[in-house]
Amino acid sequence: MSATTEPDRQSFAEAALRLAGKSEDEARRLGAVDKADEQVEALFAQRYQTTNSPVHKAVWDGKVPLELFQPPPLAASAPCDAAMERSLDVVRRRREAGTLLDTRGKLSVETMQELSAADYWGMLIEQKYGGQGAPFARFTPFLTRMAVYDALAAGLASVHGCIGAVDPVRSFGNPEQKARFLPRLASGEALSGFALTEPAAGSDLTALRTTATVVGDDLEITGEKLFITNAIPGRTVGLVVMLEGKPAVVIAELPKEENDQFRLATYKLYALKQAHNNGLKFNKLRVPRANLLKPPVGDGLTIAYHGLNLGRLSLCATAAGTMRVMLANLLPWSAFRRTYGQPIESRELVKRRIARLAALIAGSDALVAWGSWLIDEGYRGELECIVAKIFGSESQKEAAIELFMKTHGGRSFLHGHLFGDNVHEYLAPCIYEGEGEMLGLAFFKSLVKQHGQQFFEAIGKALQKNQIRNFNPMNPLHLWKLRSELGAYSKWSLQQQMRRPDRQKAPGLDARLADHLAFALEFCHRQPGDLSSAMRKHQLKLADRQCRMAELSQRVQDAVVMLVIIFWAHGKRKEWATLAADLLCQDLRRKLTGQRPSDAYFRDCGRLSELILAGGFEELAGAPREEIMMKYENR
Ligand SMILES: Cc1cc2nc3c(=O)[nH]c(=O)nc-3n(C[C@H](O)[C@H](O)[C@H](O)COP(=O)(O)OP(=O)(O)OC[C@H]3O[C@@H](n4cnc5c(N)ncnc54)[C@H](O)[C@@H]3O)c2cc1C
Repeated sequence: MSATTEPDRQSFAEAALRLAGKSEDEARRLGAVDKADEQVEALFAQRYQTTNSPVHKAVWDGKVPLELFQPPPLAASAPCDAAMERSLDVVRRRREAGTLLDTRGKLSVETMQELSAADYWGMLIEQKYGGQGAPFARFTPFLTRMAVYDALAAGLASVHGCIGAVDPVRSFGNPEQKARFLPRLASGEALSGFALTEPAAGSDLTALRTTATVVGDDLEITGEKLFITNAIPGRTVGLVVMLEGKPAVVIAELPKEENDQFRLATYKLYALKQAHNNGLKFNKLRVPRANLLKPPVGDGLTIAYHGLNLGRLSLCATAAGTMRVMLANLLPWSAFRRTYGQPIESRELVKRRIARLAALIAGSDALVAWGSWLIDEGYRGELECIVAKIFGSESQKEAAIELFMKTHGGRSFLHGHLFGDNVHEYLAPCIYEGEGEMLGLAFFKSLVKQHGQQFFEAIGKALQKNQIRNFNPMNPLHLWKLRSELGAYSKWSLQQQMRRPDRQKAPGLDARLADHLAFALEFCHRQPGDLSSAMRKHQLKLADRQCRMAELSQRVQDAVVMLVIIFWAHGKRKEWATLAADLLCQDLRRKLTGQRPSDAYFRDCGRLSELILAGGFEELAGAPREEIMMKYENR
């Protein structure tokens, strides 16, 4: 990690909001978020920062860096593998024996302990602290496998290892803090979560009210947290507090029992029902000052943002496992259920759903493999992790409602049915770790930031300096006063128009995928013009044009998914992978162009679905096959 920044420089967002006439309070708050983002950025060496990320380069550099979309295959084995197999075995065995959960439907204490003994909780912690030192690219597909057995067991590994106390201490702890916390976090003696959200602060993290005050060698914490997963008395939390007016993260070991300084705020939550999720109320709770994490730059939000990126990839990996369970469940039902004398699996509508589900699984797998590789390589991965989070959560939502529920019909709503019992689990990832559309806006802002700083910030400042309130491009005086700034932008614009198209080829690529690649390259080639023209049109009001930003953001994300899945399928060299990638690319292309599906597309759906029905989709291995509900004798 590198650690250089200009701490007092007003962020681009803040400058733009002030120039746009926003209130001082709003400009300051959004500026604080933007600054936290810049500070995370400063932790990374320049070549791994957002402007050098695969997505940023694909959009702005005129030539998509194809090599950055092709993760190498994973090594055949690694030291963490044995612990992974042991952990999978614990969950599979306990699930089959019906001992995974306790009487309240939560993952039982015995399950958690057996997972500790299997070394589950230390996967991401270095071996010298007692962990398994798993590369992230090995951890995430493992989570997918775990989610096939139990999505919550997989989710908790992410809560603990990515957003919980593990990543903050690993990445920002001093040597003493690492030596004190990591062995216990690795052994499972200390299980952790991350406490950021408050009743008044969710999407808006500048509204945090929980405070820490220095009292001798302690910090005294007062305030309230909400929706904190894995938080019960005795657990460890990465707690975000306001310390001397700035967000800070302190590792808090919650008292073993509630007392006057610490209470739980309990409620009934539909989602993550197998986990504990509570509000936490602090009234002068003492935490040693030695537990305060001090990032080399930035503050508590820097630490929070760091872990969230890992959490977002893990979320996509877990969704990939959950969607496998849905598909594995759907197949026997579709073969069993007959209407008008034929099994529904023979119907085109159902085949399309089966094929689409496989394509969504493939897309999630591809994004997870790609993003995790980039994280291991040292990239910040901000844009890439957002693409994976949005794709994974939206795919799971679509799979649940549009594909799984519809195909199971009325039985979906029976108690004991996978859909009815888990519908909230399927939907909640759209909200936690950042609501999808809000993240889409963050993606857009990160993507256009450098371009905005380079050209539009300069123009905005010149307008302000020359006291021009309503710029008129037909006014020669305006043009003269802004000649230098407008000249620089015009030069860039001209260069864009004269750029050669990006016609790169990837040797050996399947013809269908090669066609999609050509489309994606052409799309990327047009992006600087499209994005810049929106910035030019809306100027300082762009921050208020959220719907346009969300739309532009989603389009870029869709093209990125295309690039990723094309090379993923190419690397797999399996018929189902190529068919799934082709279908997903066709879907995304139609979304981008507004075209209707062709008959050939429906035939392609049929081909992939028949291959899956014939058992050719090996990715379903290990997925539990639930009993068909309300079974009857088919005549
Ligand atoms: C099951 C579950 C587990 C969770 N676990 C944790 C945890 O372990 N730790 C933790 O800290 N938090 C946790 N959370 C909280 C979660 O991260 C937040 O719910 C999420 O970040 C959204 O915050 P919010 O609910 O306060 O939404 P709000 O801030 O109330 O926003 C609601 C919606 O309003 C819209 N909106 C808000 N602001 C704007 C804006 N400026 N412009 C346009 N639209 C806007 C968005 O659509 C947004 O989703 C969990 C939540 C759930 C449901």
